[in-house]
Amino acid sequence: PLPAGEGARQTRSTCPYCGVGCGVIIESQGDEITGVRGDPQHPANFGRLCTKGSTLALTASASVTRQTRLLQPMRREHRHEEPKAVSWDQALGFASESFAQIIREHGPDAVGFYISGQLLTEDYYVFNKLAKGLIGTNNVDTNSRLCMSSAVAGYKQTLGADAPPACYDDVSHAQCIFIVGSNTAYAHPILFRRIEDAKAANPALKIIFCDPRRTDTAEIADLYLGIQPGTDVSLFNGMLHIMLWEGWTDAAYIAAHTTGFDALKATVRDYTPDLVAETCGIKKEDLLAAAKLFATSAATLSLYCQGLNQSSSGTAKNAALINLHLATGQIGKPGAGPFSLTGQPNAMGGREVGGLANLLSAHRDLANPGHRAEVAALWGIPSVPETPGKSAVEMFQAAADGEIKALWIACTNPAQSMPDQATVRRAMERAELVIVQEAFATTSSCDYADILLPATTWGEKMGTVTNSERRISRVRSAVPAPGETRHDWAIAVDFAQRLEKLLPGRTASGTSLFPYPPDDEAAGIEAIWNEHRESTRGRDLDITGMSYAMLDAAPQQWPLKTGETTGKARLYEDGIFPTADGKARFVNTAYKPVAEPRESRYPFSMTTGRLRDQWHGMSRTGTLGRLFGHVAEPAVQMNAQDMARRLLKDGDLVHVTSRRGSIVVPLQASPEVAVSQAFIAMHWGEEYLSGQSTNGDTLAGVNALTTSAYCPSSKQPELKHAAVKILKAEMP
Ligand code: SF4
Repeated sequence: PLPAGEGARQTRSTCPYCGVGCGVIIESQGDEITGVRGDPQHPANFGRLCTKGSTLALTASASVTRQTRLLQPMRREHRHEEPKAVSWDQALGFASESFAQIIREHGPDAVGFYISGQLLTEDYYVFNKLAKGLIGTNNVDTNSRLCMSSAVAGYKQTLGADAPPACYDDVSHAQCIFIVGSNTAYAHPILFRRIEDAKAANPALKIIFCDPRRTDTAEIADLYLGIQPGTDVSLFNGMLHIMLWEGWTDAAYIAAHTTGFDALKATVRDYTPDLVAETCGIKKEDLLAAAKLFATSAATLSLYCQGLNQSSSGTAKNAALINLHLATGQIGKPGAGPFSLTGQPNAMGGREVGGLANLLSAHRDLANPGHRAEVAALWGIPSVPETPGKSAVEMFQAAADGEIKALWIACTNPAQSMPDQATVRRAMERAELVIVQEAFATTSSCDYADILLPATTWGEKMGTVTNSERRISRVRSAVPAPGETRHDWAIAVDFAQRLEKLLPGRTASGTSLFPYPPDDEAAGIEAIWNEHRESTRGRDLDITGMSYAMLDAAPQQWPLKTGETTGKARLYEDGIFPTADGKARFVNTAYKPVAEPRESRYPFSMTTGRLRDQWHGMSRTGTLGRLFGHVAEPAVQMNAQDMARRLLKDGDLVHVTSRRGSIVVPLQASPEVAVSQAFIAMHWGEEYLSGQSTNGDTLAGVNALTTSAYCPSSKQPELKHAAVKILKAEMP
């Protein structure tokens, strides 16, 4: 806490919304948050906040959240009846005994944990150790699978490690910024302010914006590429074809620092400008201009997000873009590099602790026997299981099939946010035991819970988060935990300590894998942090030098080894990559269309995305009327030409129907949406947007329509595209 007036406190923390990771100063009095302002000293935002961040005091205020919070443990004897309050001892006693019984009867892979990029790094660490270390299952995955697993796979395949090489400061050094698959103006507003500043300061800076929707981000662009959904790989390969033809590649860089270029060269030979312009639906001149700007600018920075990641070819899209940076030497220097933006506040921290089904602590791979042995030694257990864990889509499919019997869901709302909601809801109905650990009682997933565990949330808990530029910041509590809520890591630790008594044999007798005092927040989280730090020793993200004391002085970027005083702003400046031979690898990427192309029965390509002032399923932002001032109600946006052809007009109610379900929603003409495309925002839940599955089950929100088809490498689902039909709803 910073000094403040009498009775008032000021506490430095980090915004809980997007991956920009802005620093905030929370003002509080007693148990009430009274104000939130930007932290002028935080290097992510230097005091600025967007509409979501600047209204945090209102959305987090106890007087507002009193209506929406889950404040005591609850249990349902039977599904869908009103839950009854129970004690923590009863709730966690029942949970641990039920888990132990299911594990004894069906084995450890009969349980699964589905966690969240909203959790802090310390929370993530404990859940990962609980599943992989204590229970012996790799069935732990996260909603970050839905937002950045393609970026992880893309970096690893090309650069050898999941490490974004650039930083925010590069925006002001770039001569060309290539924004692709990202509505930065809405999804990362404070970063977008930096781009605006850079453009104002440097009129020579060129900005290319590539996205099927001509969003507000296009306002700043010198060149807009309105590609057809899912055609990014064709575009990038076509740009490389032109760069080769024109002699714009960097032969010296390719020779010294990369491998695999010849095979890629052979592939992109077929991506002629005419063909690529036709596939992508753009002008050939624009394709040529984009290739020239990218390759010949003194420093080119790519900023990209869900348009690349949420795709059935998400890894190929990431790799094809990184190929361009390697081919032109646009990496490892100020203002240049492929910079993936993280959607959630701590998607990056989850990656660092290995909180996904295919990863282990400190960017280790589950598939690597040496890495499994290292983690087993760190945790003091005989082994880490070899069987691959189930990723998000696979986990809910396995529960729907009866293979996974118990689901533990923490800090996320799969009944709204997962694609193909009908399958997800069937999974939660069928599972023998569903535990939902949540701060808010209002999420759709709470309706399926046998046990509800009340968690603390932003403003009440401590720990760390990592933003898009690898910068780790402290999150601090400004007000006490309300009601009977407990911190996420402490709930997991209490449960784990009970479970290890019921499932002896995973640890040396008498010792706990979880020696963190669950009732002492400060001591508990620092012990977890220090264990996590130690697990990174010698790895690409080595943070052994990053103590809480250092982070209390200022946020730091990784890596930061023992003895170092500051982290690394930019990676690979020496041209050495974390691969066996020290060279980056070109990936031979071929273009594949979207999993479900539009056709005569489903003639529209529907995309999804964020609104400026809402966040995820609205459990926080949906409580504040002011945040509905920008967009007040759900709508499907279409091009006016499509509406005229179908005799539809603004405000008509329409059925939007995919192969999986249908929703009823008002129609809105939008110049942002191209012909044969449609857009629906992701935030609206069941109180706003109701629908039905093809079996007649009640569903809600746009994910009633989306497909669970996923990228084979990253297993990230294609939330950005579904083929739909749009028909006027009959009035009763
Ligand atoms: Fe919060 Fe992101 Fe806005 Fe910054 S840009 S204030 S991190 S929502």
